[in-house]
Amino acid sequence: MPDFENEPEISVGLMENIDKACFETVGTFLINGKELSSGKYNILCKEDIITLVDQSGNEPGASKELEIKPRFLNESSFIINDIKIGMDFHWERFLDQEFRGTLKIKALNSNSFTLINIIPLETYLEAVICSEMNSESPIEFLKTHCVISRSWLLAQLNKKKYPVKQIASEKIPGWTDSQKHKDFDVCADDHCQRYHGIKSINPSVEKALKETRGEVLMSEGEICDARFSKCCGGITERFSTCWEDTDFTFLTPVMDSPENNPQTYPANEKEFYDFITSKPGAFCNIQDKKLLSRILPDFDQETGSFFRWTVNYSQQELKKILLEKTGIDFGNIMDLIPVLRGASGRIINLRIVGQMKETEIKKELEIRKALSKTHLYSSAFVVIPDRNEGSFPGGFTLKGAGWGHGVGLCQIGAAAMAEKGCDYASILYHYFKNSLIKKIY
Ligand SMILES: [Zn+2]
Ligand SMILES: [Zn+2]
Repeated sequence: MPDFENEPEISVGLMENIDKACFETVGTFLINGKELSSGKYNILCKEDIITLVDQSGNEPGASKELEIKPRFLNESSFIINDIKIGMDFHWERFLDQEFRGTLKIKALNSNSFTLINIIPLETYLEAVICSEMNSESPIEFLKTHCVISRSWLLAQLNKKKYPVKQIASEKIPGWTDSQKHKDFDVCADDHCQRYHGIKSINPSVEKALKETRGEVLMSEGEICDARFSKCCGGITERFSTCWEDTDFTFLTPVMDSPENNPQTYPANEKEFYDFITSKPGAFCNIQDKKLLSRILPDFDQETGSFFRWTVNYSQQELKKILLEKTGIDFGNIMDLIPVLRGASGRIINLRIVGQMKETEIKKELEIRKALSKTHLYSSAFVVIPDRNEGSFPGGFTLKGAGWGHGVGLCQIGAAAMAEKGCDYASILYHYFKNSLIKKIY
C-alpha cells in the first residue's frame, strides 16, 4: 500500500550542472532564518562553495548548500532567467520562469551546481498541468490529467523508496528513466513531466485539482505508474517497448476508439503497413483545429500534423544523421528494417543495413533519436526506400503514426473524449485497464 497520509513535498530539478545563474525574488524569502531582501541575485560556485551576490556586491549567503525559503507559500515567488526547455527536442528554447516554494542550490563539484525547487505536491501539479496542456482544455480532461500526473509522480517517489531491481536485459546507451535523478525527485522537462513555473496558472486548472485532490489510480494494491504521451496514433503501446523489459496489466494496449477489439490489432508487417499508412478512426484522429488549439500549449501547436506524418531523407542526409547520432559510419544506407514492433506499431528493434556496417538499434526513444537531427515524432513508422537508380537507394521516406511513446494515456485522445462528454473516470478507465481511482489524502 502507498504510504502517503498527507500531501507530500517534492523536489524538482530546475537546472543541473551549471556554473552560473541569476534569479530574482518577489515577496519575502528567508535564508538561514534571516530575511533576504527582494531583488536580483547572482549565484556563483567556487571550490564547492555556493555564494549569493546581490546587485550591490553583498553576499547574503555562502555554503555547500543554500536553501531560500518563502515566508508564505502563496505570497512569494522567484524568477530564474534563461531556463532551457524542450531539451534537444524540435521545440527547444530559453525562457524566464517563475516558481513558488523553496529554492535549493546544491554544489555538484568544485564549480558547478544544481537548482532545485521544493514544493507541496498539489502546487507542483498546478504548474505541471498548465505546462503540459493548454488550460482552456475541457474540464474533465484537466481532471484526468490531474489524476495521472499525481499517480505517475507518487509511483516514482515510491520506486525511489523501494527501488526495483534493474530488469532490463542489457544496458542501452542513453536510455534513461526517473531513477537517474539523485539530487531531486523529478526534473522539470519532458524526461519527467514538463514544469514551466506558475505564470500561466488558470482557475479551471485550480478547480480540476480541487475536485480530484489526493486521487490516484491504483492497480493490484499499488499506485499506477500512469504514463502518458501526446498522441498514440490509434493504438496505445506496451511499457516494455519503451522502458524496462517488464509489463503491467494497467498498461495493456488499447485501441483508441469506442470499439476496442484486440482481434483487429495489426499482427504482421503487412498489417502494420496498412495501419500506419491509413487514417483509421480514433479519438486522437481529430481534424478540428479549434479543439487542438484549446488542448495544446502554443509551442506544441507549431508541430502541425502528428496523427500521421511523413519525413523524407536523401541518401546523403540520412547517412550524415546516422553518423552524427550513432557514431557509426555505415557507408551508403541500403535498408532500414523493422525487426520487432510493439502493439501500436512502434518499432522496438530496427536493423540498419549499410554498405560498410550493419547493426540493430533497440527501444523506441533510441530509434527516434538515431533517425533525426532532433527526434522523430514516434518510432511507429514504415520505411519506403527510393530504389529508382544506382546500386543503393537515392533516399528514404518514413511514414509514421503518433507523437511520443504512446504508452498509457493518449493526451489528444483523452481531450477529444472529454469534448464528446465523457467524464474523467471513464476516460481513465478507457486507457488504464484493471485500475481504480482512490483518494489517498
Ligand atoms: Zn527527469
Ligand atoms: Zn490516441
